[in-house]
Amino acid sequence: MAFGSGDVGFDLGTTNIIVCINKKGVVVREPAVVAFDRSNNEVETFGEEAKEIIGRAAGNIIAVHPLIHGTISNYTVAEKMVDYFLWKAVGRRTLCKPRVCVGVPTGATETERKTVADICYSAGARNVVVVDKAVLAALGSGIDISQKEGTMIVDIGGGTTDIAVVSMGGTVVGKSIQIAGGDFDESIVTYIKDQYNLLIDIAVAEEIKKKIGTCKMMLQEKSMKIRGYNMEDGMIQEVVITSSEIKGALDKNVKKIINAIKQILIVTPPEMKQSVMEQGIMLSGGSALLSGMELRIETELGITTMTSDDPVNCTAIGASKYFSLLSKQRLNRK
Ligand code: ADP
Ligand code: MG
Repeated sequence: MAFGSGDVGFDLGTTNIIVCINKKGVVVREPAVVAFDRSNNEVETFGEEAKEIIGRAAGNIIAVHPLIHGTISNYTVAEKMVDYFLWKAVGRRTLCKPRVCVGVPTGATETERKTVADICYSAGARNVVVVDKAVLAALGSGIDISQKEGTMIVDIGGGTTDIAVVSMGGTVVGKSIQIAGGDFDESIVTYIKDQYNLLIDIAVAEEIKKKIGTCKMMLQEKSMKIRGYNMEDGMIQEVVITSSEIKGALDKNVKKIINAIKQILIVTPPEMKQSVMEQGIMLSGGSALLSGMELRIETELGITTMTSDDPVNCTAIGASKYFSLLSKQRLNRK
């Protein structure tokens, strides 16, 4: 029987829930979705299992996304989901309640932070700290967040893009915008509809994005055959689409992200800006994996840009290390 479980880092993403245990690693990575039975108002199951049964869709089972654009949209269901994943991660037989560090979007209000903390306490956490996601992503990417010099983090997830300059363990300037991977997928659906009169599923759009999507012109054009429903006669039809078409479809979103980074650079204090220019920008989040993202940001801003070694997991990894960082800092101050 396990006694203590180790500190738990929780990344409550719009798309994925990731749980990492300090010194152990990532133990849960599942879609942030809940299967809900409308006939009796009960939650059926969570994550991967939920995705599966929703796919087989009996009419009364619906998908509930407890987070929309990074913010809790359904408290009761979110509470159940956090409870399920927390105990799935640490094991029901753990005797000692875990300490939990959880990330929230940069600029989340006090009420939003308290809501997230309450959910973790009610799931059974012994102690909860709520920290800006960008700070955790920086920590999980191996950046020394306690240093005075500022580092810029751009975390491009599924529902939000968090942009922040991090220094001395906190956010100096930053914001969270509601443009991210989910909007990329929607732009692809819209493009295929407008251009080919074809209706495709959002999951197909995501597949297109990952396979041939890009935000920088490629030397070698990629293409992909896709199937959709013709909007006039409802018949299945095939078309071949190319990466430059997808680049065009995504461009408006990518520009919004780059503009938001520029706005944060404008309000960054001059002495911090110097160190951001020197240290460069660190990208994280699943959408940092979109082909060409690093190069596009680097070229448009003229600042060296790199991607975290583990862009999808780094927020949860950083969260799992946060408590030990706090105690180290306390020791240093003594
Ligand atoms: P969140 O923190 O919002 O839950 P994640 O950081 O887990 O989100 O990122 C999820 C997003 O990353 C999704 O929109 C997904 O489509 C996108 N993504 C994952 N892998 C890739 C890839 N190889 N190329 C482009 N986008 C990707
Ligand atoms: Mg994320």
